[in-house]
Amino acid sequence: MFSANDLQARTTLTQSGRTADSGPGLSVNPPVVRMSTVLFDSLADLREAEARRAQSERSLTYAANGNPTAFALEDLINDLEGAHGTCLFPTGLNAVGLMFQAFLRPGQHVLITDAVYPPVRRLARTLLAAFDIEVDYYPADASGIEALIKPNTRMIYAEVPGSQTFAMCDLPALSQLCKARGLLLAVDNSWGSGVLYRPLELGADISLMALTKYVGGHSDVMMGSVSTTEAHFATLKTMQIAMGSTVSPDDAYLALRGARSLAARLAMHERNALQVAQWLQAQPQVIRVMYPALPEHPGHAIWKRDFHGCNGLLSFEFDSPQPDACDRFVDALRLFGIGYSWGGFESLVTQIQAQGDSGPRQILRLQIGLENPDDLIADLQAGFTALAQSA
Ligand SMILES: *Cc1c(COP(=O)(O)O)cnc(C)c1O
Repeated sequence: MFSANDLQARTTLTQSGRTADSGPGLSVNPPVVRMSTVLFDSLADLREAEARRAQSERSLTYAANGNPTAFALEDLINDLEGAHGTCLFPTGLNAVGLMFQAFLRPGQHVLITDAVYPPVRRLARTLLAAFDIEVDYYPADASGIEALIKPNTRMIYAEVPGSQTFAMCDLPALSQLCKARGLLLAVDNSWGSGVLYRPLELGADISLMALTKYVGGHSDVMMGSVSTTEAHFATLKTMQIAMGSTVSPDDAYLALRGARSLAARLAMHERNALQVAQWLQAQPQVIRVMYPALPEHPGHAIWKRDFHGCNGLLSFEFDSPQPDACDRFVDALRLFGIGYSWGGFESLVTQIQAQGDSGPRQILRLQIGLENPDDLIADLQAGFTALAQSA
């Protein structure tokens, strides 16, 4: 069940980002170091630290440029992603925005997957449009993408799988296309969280994650990361320092603490979600269950080749003549929280907006948490019963 890569991630999560020089009297996890000013012994020391920072080296000069607790988390994410360097941001969406600012310039063109996390479209309409950066969207499976590449195209932005219907694309193939044309390949890796998927190893230049999701894992902290290969790190770091983007040591501590159990949680999310997905497939009102580990999933072959497991996210579509089927179903649930986000220990439900040939499709997305899956199935059964009674 566990690939070598997955096993490697387990050791990384346990050993990386620990207190340096641990010895008698030191904590296992790095302490929360709250600070703004950094004190130096001499002006010469201060100048030396500043000079190292100017070379994109990690150097503690002022806490707007990072703090020791955040540095420990950067190390762990870096090891997970197999990256040269990692920068942290207050939210996942902010990480996407700063990555665009760092790598795109007015007059350039970026191709974004149609399966993208929807707020990135708003980012494109506001930030990118205001800076005259052109955007086009390509099909989730990247079919026909070559025809969309223009002379001013600078970047392809992927999200694998897409976070709503879990559409897959062939990242190694996309990477070959990018390398042949000198394009940057950036990937949203929130779904895989550095354990299930490693885009940089598959040829991407930039991998970013919403640490808010599975890495934090406890629905109590927001954060984003951007990790790059060596060739691109200075560009990212320079923009981060210029913008004064950083994360609080308290938040970094929470994310780091959550990350320790990431591999163990993901394995349990996967086991629970697979059980629920198979049960849903057997329900007469369900016409489609979208979960990459199911052989019927359109991206299943790519998932098997490129991924090291599945998480707790799945979507399913009703075949119901009732336009309010989703509302009726969700109103009957007791264990599933209604709300945005995913990746915490608890189960959640949300509605996915999608158009079909004859009006809106009725799709719910579930984040399957760490509860007893039999209890979750009993809860979902109540949803189907409510649908049947109102039919
Ligand atoms: C949630 C999410 C983000 C944004 O993360 P926030 O921390 O909520 O800003 C980005 N990409 C994907 C795929 C997400 O699910």
